[in-house]
Amino acid sequence: MGKVLKIREVGDPILTKICDKVDIKNIDENVFDIIDDLKTTLEFGTGLGISAPQIGVNKRIIVVGAKKENVKYNDAEEIPITAMINPVWEKISDETDIQFEGCMSVPSIRGKVERYKNIKLTYYNEKGEKIEKEIHGFFARLVQHECDHLDGIVLLARVKQQDGFSTAENIRKFEL
Ligand code: ZN
Repeated sequence: MGKVLKIREVGDPILTKICDKVDIKNIDENVFDIIDDLKTTLEFGTGLGISAPQIGVNKRIIVVGAKKENVKYNDAEEIPITAMINPVWEKISDETDIQFEGCMSVPSIRGKVERYKNIKLTYYNEKGEKIEKEIHGFFARLVQHECDHLDGIVLLARVKQQDGFSTAENIRKFEL
């Protein structure tokens, strides 16, 4: 059982660092402990994904997972809690869309971010097995957001338009 850790918030230098790759040949107790803490911290919070730097660990590990009732996106699907080690993705079409995103490291603020709708995702699971899959829509957006964290990019840096920021309350008031 992992620990619920404090989420690092914007302004913390760890959120702008590039994370180190995990040595897939040596997935050890340390990596399992990080994954357990990420899962526990994610389930305790309100987010749909979490990355290691958000709990202060400079390694390329993310955990995603979305229960239907927590998902507010139209095209959202239920995503089982999944740990991904050294995740990478590439676009499989040029199609993008722009939607509001939130982030546990950016309290209260939502930002409109353009993301690819269709990507090929490659990662290693906890057993060190290589997994490749094509993912779309909300799931693809979530993975792109979490992978950004591993390169030191917080969603605020992805917002391009002047009206691209809001609060959750104002999204309900003005956007829906
Ligand atoms: Zn985030």
